[in-house]
Amino acid sequence: MHLLRISRVKLLFIIYFFFVAIPFNLLSENQKNQTKVVTKNIETLCLNSLEWYDRHPGYKGEYRRVLEYCKTYAKDVSPEGFLVNPILSDFGVMSGVNTRPRDQIHQGIDIIGSKNEPIIAVADGLVLEATIEDCWGSTLVIDHGESLDGKKLIVLYAHIGKFNVKENDYVKRGDIIARLPEKVQFMCMARVRHLHLQIGQKYCQKEEKDNWGCKYFIKDFYNSLNPHSYWADGPNKVSCFNKEKKYSKGTLTYPFQCKKLTAN
Ligand SMILES: [Zn+2]
Repeated sequence: MHLLRISRVKLLFIIYFFFVAIPFNLLSENQKNQTKVVTKNIETLCLNSLEWYDRHPGYKGEYRRVLEYCKTYAKDVSPEGFLVNPILSDFGVMSGVNTRPRDQIHQGIDIIGSKNEPIIAVADGLVLEATIEDCWGSTLVIDHGESLDGKKLIVLYAHIGKFNVKENDYVKRGDIIARLPEKVQFMCMARVRHLHLQIGQKYCQKEEKDNWGCKYFIKDFYNSLNPHSYWADGPNKVSCFNKEKKYSKGTLTYPFQCKKLTAN
């Protein structure tokens, strides 16, 4: 028994050494720096997205839990050489930004961020709707045309703050269309500042609203498209908007500005 315990400890050490310590040391200086920058970015944005708790000091226990959850599970999706706001609740998952399980699988992606941070159009498009919804807060619905595989791309930008555009405006990819809210105060924001980005194909015309099946802007709410299928650089390759670059219609770029990482 005693021998067995020693060998378990040794085994753990060997596992640590070969699978953690050696691989980390094999990374180049640049890769190590990038890992540090990414960790710092996630920590900062987790803190910034949880400002609701500063105004509600009675929720200290919940704050600590949600902050820890954010730091552990916020997913870095930065393309090489860039830094982007992380995704805290991705498409298709069952957990929300506030650690709680969802009733339905997630139909969009939740990207955390700081107050008043600019949100940029994921493609050229026409603003169908700019509304303040009771649970979602400010929401933009933009028709971004059709994807390369012929799907309509009706994009919901929800839980946002100030609008920079109005209904019937044409937007260009990369235009600042809104900002993240200063205060997180609507129920569906779940006390965490984040953009909920969701893609449906069937827009609910205004006269159809509030009828069964037309509550949240699109009829195919529970059949939404996975945004990761449509990035400009290819499926699952989050793509940064760069104003020098030409993009194909029907492809998307990230709804937040990317920061360029400088090699040092
Ligand atoms: Zn969401």
